[in-house]
Amino acid sequence: MLDIAALAKLGGVKKYNADEIFFNAGDPGHEMYIILKGRVGVYITSIDGFPIMITELVSGDFFGEMSLLEDQPRSATIGAIEDTIVLVINESNFEQVIAQQPSLAYRIMKGMSSRVRQLNEDLAQLKRGKVEERKAFKLAPPTAEKPSAEVLDNSLFPPGHKPYPLEAPPSDDNLLFDREVLCPVCEEKFKTKNVRSSKLRLDKVDNDLRQRFVDFEPLWYLVWTCPNCYYSNFNFEFKQVSEVFTKKLLEQGKQLKAKVRLQFSEPRKLDEVFVTYYLMLQSLQAAGKPNPTEAAKVWLRLSWLYNDAGDEEMFLYASQQALDMFKDTFYNTRRETSIEQDQRLSLLLGELSMRIGENTEALKFFRGAIARKGGNNTINRQAEDRIRDLKDIILVQEKKVKEEEKV
Ligand SMILES: [Zn+2]
Repeated sequence: MLDIAALAKLGGVKKYNADEIFFNAGDPGHEMYIILKGRVGVYITSIDGFPIMITELVSGDFFGEMSLLEDQPRSATIGAIEDTIVLVINESNFEQVIAQQPSLAYRIMKGMSSRVRQLNEDLAQLKRGKVEERKAFKLAPPTAEKPSAEVLDNSLFPPGHKPYPLEAPPSDDNLLFDREVLCPVCEEKFKTKNVRSSKLRLDKVDNDLRQRFVDFEPLWYLVWTCPNCYYSNFNFEFKQVSEVFTKKLLEQGKQLKAKVRLQFSEPRKLDEVFVTYYLMLQSLQAAGKPNPTEAAKVWLRLSWLYNDAGDEEMFLYASQQALDMFKDTFYNTRRETSIEQDQRLSLLLGELSMRIGENTEALKFFRGAIARKGGNNTINRQAEDRIRDLKDIILVQEKKVKEEEKV
């Protein structure tokens, strides 16, 4: 046990209120923290910039030791879940703290070694992800007699889109709650399903940055649609619509209502989910967004949904759309992004290129994802791995071509 009273005498005791952020991933930092009382959440940021809690730390746990010992930027965001009291350890009191609590040095070492082990496991999982990436998300057996979001006019979907008689597992209910939302376009209130992010548990991250959660697929609830005007957007950006576009969105909504009768079943059906994503693409168009990134994010997610539905053809089609639009972002949009964000985008461009068979392009993007200075080393390693994989694939293909030439 740590002698908390004795540690507190060394100074550096600080209180954080519930929901207060200690630091964000990527921040520089030179302190570590020991939780004396309370609870904190460890969050990572998805490529869309919304936080996902991966674990919780409680009294007696510590965090931030990498920054103290190795001067590394923060690898995750830490926020107080409830009022939390911590002991802040920095270079000036580190030796005193260790002298007074030698057991702490042992615990830090133990903690670091288990984190390194965890990191290795994560990397192994990333590798395993390669094999599993086509494996569909667990879905309840098809029960739908007919698709419940009735599509009266197929022009909402691209050619090749089909009905997919799948529905969410009933266990989804445990992670959902009803939320009343005020539509920023038509100003009507409506009820929608919202995900309890604090209950999400990250399982692994696929090579294309898709986050897999334990027994749950948040993609099914990511897009909110106003049932009154059909305005649709990602839940975390739902309020972000400029008044300039209100009229256009309302007009468009009227036309869309003639094409689609919207409804959500419990449990939700995949066909209903697809409708929300395609309605969002319509909303983006009406809002005249010059930035292709938003549409790219939609297409990337559509590719994942088609993959889960087992539709290979549409999976590749949506991947191609995502690739084209992310490329547009990459080459033509002025971005204020960190080195790490650029690395991630390059990695994703490489992955999507590889998926549709553009191997030379893929190689270029993977190489571009490696940043020796100021970059994220995990991404560097992942890019190096993918370069090796890709070179193997290219070798096999060349061999095949040569053999065919011989025949
Ligand atoms: Zn509305």
